[in-house]
Amino acid sequence: MNRSKSEELFSRAQTVMPGGVNSPVRAFNAVGGNPLFIQSARGATITDVDGNEFIDYVSSWGPLILGHAHPEIVEAINQQAGLGTSYGAPTKLEITLAEKVTRAFPSMEIVRMVNSGTEAVMSAIRLTRGITDRDKILKFEGCYHGHADSMLVKAGSGLLSLGAPECPGIVADLAEKTLTLPFNDSDSVEKLFADQGTEIACIIVEAIAGNMGVIPPKEGFLQTLRDVTRQSGSLLIFDEVITGFRVALGGAQSLFDIQPDITCLGKIIGGGLPVGAYGGSKKIMDNISPTGSVYQAGTLSGNPLAMAAGNKMLDLLSGNQVYEDLERKSDQLCRGFQENAGQLGITAQFTRVGSMFSMFFTSAEIVDFHSVKTCDTEFFKRYFNAMLEEGIYIAPSQFEAGFMTTVHTEQDIEQTIQANFKALKIAKG
Ligand SMILES: *Cc1c(COP(=O)(O)O)cnc(C)c1O
Repeated sequence: MNRSKSEELFSRAQTVMPGGVNSPVRAFNAVGGNPLFIQSARGATITDVDGNEFIDYVSSWGPLILGHAHPEIVEAINQQAGLGTSYGAPTKLEITLAEKVTRAFPSMEIVRMVNSGTEAVMSAIRLTRGITDRDKILKFEGCYHGHADSMLVKAGSGLLSLGAPECPGIVADLAEKTLTLPFNDSDSVEKLFADQGTEIACIIVEAIAGNMGVIPPKEGFLQTLRDVTRQSGSLLIFDEVITGFRVALGGAQSLFDIQPDITCLGKIIGGGLPVGAYGGSKKIMDNISPTGSVYQAGTLSGNPLAMAAGNKMLDLLSGNQVYEDLERKSDQLCRGFQENAGQLGITAQFTRVGSMFSMFFTSAEIVDFHSVKTCDTEFFKRYFNAMLEEGIYIAPSQFEAGFMTTVHTEQDIEQTIQANFKALKIAKG
């Protein structure tokens, strides 16, 4: 496969950008080689600057559940662009998107739009500290909640891929306020809360972990979080930046029937444009400025282009058929992978919730950060590069989810399963 134009652009990129990329997860550090530079994408296909075409399972890391350049979303963006791209004043588009979000998420009566998932989380954390007048927060090892200072403690995603779990530049006094425990470990949560529950402002959790690969919550885990926070006057934040409108219209909270106090959204609700949102009951959200005294603002928040794309995205997702279709296709793909591994005698674990899925090269049962770290990353490296050669674009890390879209065809899936067989065989050596 000729990648000369990508190589050339990567050399040039490195002279003007750190590592040649604007987000570390785009670097191929964990898999060797250099990132592909993308020329265009349509539907389930992504095309690099050398003209190589790939079936894409990265989906811009989750947002593009309807595939690339969906004609109706493109049309909505174009239409709005002609009317102006930002006003710094309210628009109707913000109301209609907030209404769609609150309809899908009954726990969110009031929503504040921001520009990224990071910003949503950062603001939600500040809000819980403001309301409770407590400093400590609890997060789980391997969960990723964006790159706000308080959240870069034992985080997943890029930090996990690059093997750099501790980040310099975070004030130690602040990092100390972020307590961490293993995901899915209800006992240790109960123990911590029995000890210091009344000092903890909030628990933040990915209700389905998606940034150390996909790890579903164990039975009762989320309920434990709900119970201990209620008992101790702490607040529960579900970070549904990936799972919101991905695993179901109402996100993971609708699947598991647990209502958090605050929900963070992003990715899908922007229709592929930069967006984040956080919300909860009116009582909680009334503490945010200008109603309340917890300050949070944004020049481009509720940006009309992003709101137009998000509105169209949520309209297109609101038919139930969408999630049934995604479930069926994702199941077909993952079963194909599983059969391949079985046939080739390769030890792997498979996790999936709806259209987010992972294949872990380990014999350990996947329940938390610790089990994920037992994966054979050298095997993954060979597998990834073989998949790329076969025309399949997956995330360049063992510790990231794969995403199915509505536009992947039967033929795409069949081709991917065949490529997976070849790639597994090559990786096995
Ligand atoms: C992607 C992600 C974020 C951060 O969102 P950005 O838009 O990249 O800032 C936060 N939480 C979760 C669960 C995510 O997957």
